Parts: sequence; structure tokens; C-alpha cells
Amino acid sequence: MILVAAFVLSCFCCNAQDEKLPVLWSELTGPDFAKAVEKSGGVCIIPMGVLEKHGPHLPLATDCIVADYIAKMAAEMEYAIVFPTFYVGQINEAKHQPGTVAYSTELCLKMLEETCAEVARNGCKKIILFSQHGGNNALVNLFCQSQLNSERDYIVYETLFGSKPEVKAQIEKMLKTDGGEHAGEEETSEVMAARPDLVKLERAATQSGEALNRLPLQKMRPSIFWYANYPNHFAGEPSAANTELGEYVILEDAKFLAEKINRVKRDSVGLQLQNEFFEKAKHPKDTEQ
Ligand SMILES: [Zn+2]
Repeated sequence: MILVAAFVLSCFCCNAQDEKLPVLWSELTGPDFAKAVEKSGGVCIIPMGVLEKHGPHLPLATDCIVADYIAKMAAEMEYAIVFPTFYVGQINEAKHQPGTVAYSTELCLKMLEETCAEVARNGCKKIILFSQHGGNNALVNLFCQSQLNSERDYIVYETLFGSKPEVKAQIEKMLKTDGGEHAGEEETSEVMAARPDLVKLERAATQSGEALNRLPLQKMRPSIFWYANYPNHFAGEPSAANTELGEYVILEDAKFLAEKINRVKRDSVGLQLQNEFFEKAKHPKDTEQ
């Protein structure tokens, strides 16, 4: 009887593995969601961006659009559930520009905390934060460190944007400029690949994306640093942006993320160690010295 039950269970697993399921959380039905959790090994990606000006030529949701696009492509390579784009992020430095939505740091952390808790309550115990917004780096980092604040039955992995070294080298070969930090040649190319209908490249030259270097400080960054350098919230020179470059960056970054999903799926140690840590943290004087 036990053998039969085991056989039925394993067949169910196989079926769930083979079944073609949408990767987007928002597109799954309730019954399919349960199968998707099993098929994904409980891995959910939260693509993160923000709403902020991207020069005079790219949409406000640029980081969200690119994060979403890469996450979806990666999850189709290595199955995972993709949560709706998380647009709550750190973007105080663009509050002087139209269309920016800058929530308080407290709310950003709280939203992340409750979102991860809800994702986990639904069965995804391995959560990957995939941020495409540079201004989120410190926030995501702090959030991940804060995971040890209190006991939980899930684990959060951070993965910030960035390509593999060999891909970076190839991108540098393809670029006509240094790529730009914000709405420059590289990022504009990515939007051209993901959502060409939203790129107004002909408007790019109406504002400058050059660094003004108005602060006489070296390697010191007061919070006004970004505004001091780039008051137009635009850093780079995108006129040479092209779809070929964008498609290359997106495909390689999706492959890189798919590898990370695979590693997270195979990680059987992280959550176990986290549980052990929480248990020991309840009575530190018993920890062997
Ligand atoms: Zn951006």
C-alpha cells in the first residue's frame, strides 16, 4: 500500500514537472498555482524596479520593464514563479522629477517583508529578489541581512543586476560609449529590445546626461551626490543604442539568472542552516564555545 502511494505520488510529481504552466504568478489559476509551486521547487522571483525618470526618452517604469522581461525569460528557461513587478523602492534622489514614486524607507522594508511572508505562506519558501534598479542595492542588501531578525520558514536570496565578467567584456566591445549609468546606451538598448514602442530616442538629445561633477568630493557620497552630478536624472549618451546590443544583454542576463534559479533549487542547506541558527539564537549560552 505504501509502495502504491509512493508510486502515485511520484507520478504526480512527474506530471507536475512536465506540465506547461505559465511562469507569471498573476497568470496562474488557483489549481495551477499549487502545481507551479511544486514544479518550481518553491522558487519565486520578485523582479524589482521603481518608477523614476529615465532621461527624456525612456519610460518611467524602465527598470520594472527590464526586470520583468529578464525574470520571465529566465523562468521559462529554468522554471520558477515570477511575482508581479515590485515597484516599491528607494528613489529619493529623483523626487524633483515628474513621475517619480518614492516611498519611505520604512514602507519599502515593510512591503518587502510582508510580500515575502505572503509569497512564503503560499508555499514558495525560496525567494529570489531580482533588482534592476541601482538605487535599490543598499535597500535589498539591508533587507536580506534583516532576515535574521526573527524566525521564519523561508529564505531570501538577493541578486542584483549585473552581467557575467565575460558578458561584460563582450558588452564593452559592442558599446560605442561607456554604456552610461542611467538611461545611457546600454539601458536604452535593453528597453529597445524589450519594449521598442516605448523608446523615444529622437528626444534623447534634448537634455544632457553628462556628469556635472558639482561636488568637490572624491569617493565620498552624501545623498545629494546623484543630483549634484545628474540633475536631469540622466547619466549617459544613448544615441548609439541599438536592439542588437539590448537583445544580447537581456538574453545573457536571463541565462545568468536561470543558472541562479537552478542553484537556488538545488540549495538544500540554506534553509536548514537558517533554522539551526534561529534555534540556537533562542538560547545562545548553550552554543558550544
Ligand atoms: Zn534604470
